[in-house]
Amino acid sequence: MRALPLTYIENDAGDVRAVTALNRNSSLPLTQNSFGLGSTYAESHVIVSWKKDAQGCPALDLQVSYQKTAVHIASELKDNACAFEHVHAHEMNHLAIYRRWLEESPQRMGEFFKQRFESLTALDSLSRNQETIRLALVEFGQVRAQHDTFDSEAEYDHNQAVCDRFIPKMLDRLKAEGKLP
Ligand SMILES: [Zn+2]
Repeated sequence: MRALPLTYIENDAGDVRAVTALNRNSSLPLTQNSFGLGSTYAESHVIVSWKKDAQGCPALDLQVSYQKTAVHIASELKDNACAFEHVHAHEMNHLAIYRRWLEESPQRMGEFFKQRFESLTALDSLSRNQETIRLALVEFGQVRAQHDTFDSEAEYDHNQAVCDRFIPKMLDRLKAEGKLP
């Protein structure tokens, strides 16, 4: 069981419309409720390889990583350093959730597959590979619950209140200008 390190890019070129589209097109939780002020995207990647160990017994080699990891902050927030920093910090928290989950994955998934080892080795090699990949992606995807917990009602209310209520005021202005999706 191995995990590749998490690398990511940051992008603050897209406006609220663009960042909202990113969030709505992804399976990830929406941030800031329905409008995309920030977005953190990470694509799960799993490589599975069943081998034989020195004694000829089946051994599972598994590598997990995140690909195309990107943090987007809506360009309109650059008008207010306080709000930009606040949304950025929120997205960095999502990134930290991914990073911690990834770092814990070798041990966690090792235990997960230990419990399923016998039933997997009972399958023919094609089914075994397919089922291992399916299970690995399901298990790796359990991080979703942590993002949902973090994007709580209290966190949302807090985001509305900070920086002299810049965020709700900005959204009201963008709405009046017809610039919200
Ligand atoms: Zn969020």
